[in-house]
Amino acid sequence: MKAVDKLIQRQKLTKEEFIEILKQQDDPDIRELLKEEAIRLRKHYYGTKVFTRGLIEFTNHCKNDCYYCGIRRSNKNAKRFRLSQEDILACCENGYELGFRTFVLQGGEDVWYTDAKLVEIIRRIKTLYPECAVTLSVGEKSYESYKAYKEAGADRYLLRHETADEQHYEVLHPAEMSLANRKQCLYDLKKLGYQVGAGFMVGSPGQSVETLAEDLLFLQELQPQMVGIGPFIPHHDTCFAEKSAGSVGETLFLLSVIRILLPTVLLPATTALGTMDPQGREKGLLAGANVVMPNLSPLKTRKQYDLYDNKICTGDESAQCKNCLAQRMESVGYHVVVDRGDSLNK
Ligand code: SAH
Repeated sequence: MKAVDKLIQRQKLTKEEFIEILKQQDDPDIRELLKEEAIRLRKHYYGTKVFTRGLIEFTNHCKNDCYYCGIRRSNKNAKRFRLSQEDILACCENGYELGFRTFVLQGGEDVWYTDAKLVEIIRRIKTLYPECAVTLSVGEKSYESYKAYKEAGADRYLLRHETADEQHYEVLHPAEMSLANRKQCLYDLKKLGYQVGAGFMVGSPGQSVETLAEDLLFLQELQPQMVGIGPFIPHHDTCFAEKSAGSVGETLFLLSVIRILLPTVLLPATTALGTMDPQGREKGLLAGANVVMPNLSPLKTRKQYDLYDNKICTGDESAQCKNCLAQRMESVGYHVVVDRGDSLNK
């Protein structure tokens, strides 16, 4: 049986079969077939609903040095900031009024926010907004740290694996970081009962159909509740400043493949996709995505959370971001809902 048919019939695929599918992405018939199946599944499980997450970028200090990232520790030009607990709670208050029922706390790996500080922030948010979900995206931590955050009330955790290929991982990260540890973190988070999000950039330097096949194999094995993918976009102050960005078309193709691979997955149409194409997020929805993550960060620090060049929405108030996205979703027949937007397979 052809690999594409196996995917659609929800049979387990091998690396070679994923490679076969990835090599067919320029075939318009295959593209259309996968897109239609992705939309069918998305509508079957989620109708035309779009879940929103209020993204709070709370620190751009980072102890890591990922070669692609604008807030890597070696970037001496990055203007560093930290939000106070009160700033973060003000974002939540604003976000709650705007209809967000999930807050995503994302940041660099900033040791200033000790476990005790993070636990207190999570507790305060969960006490003030018990019906809201808290998602963390603060990198690699110990099992004990993840456990403490979970006990404080955190519901979900986003930790893109970035690439599931050992050699490719080394192209993207310094030797002090390892794919093994990244994966272990994801397994720890799952074990602790988090709804877990993995993912990767599309078109990162050194990526190939072989490494992408490893990514899809890993997703098939991990069975995460969420998957974040978006095009790689170079940042002028990184080692990859001169590299070319990932393609929108390939990202859309992969969104469809991932929707079919994990039919109930929570799949965002990311800001990076919107940065590469003014209609990127709408196209993401039309390829199988069902989540958007408008920015709730205070305007004063928005521009400083500078992961890649030309990031969109850095000058808009949160309300503008939310309304703009809601209209964009409506324009393609989807509807933003006021809902925690939990995974169907918790
Ligand atoms: N420190 C946290 C959050 C990282 S930022 C963590 O380690 O998970 C969130 C994501 O942005 C990263 O996982 C990465 O996939 C993406 N990202 C970073 N630099 C990027 C770039 N230049 N282009 C596109 N995406 C990028």
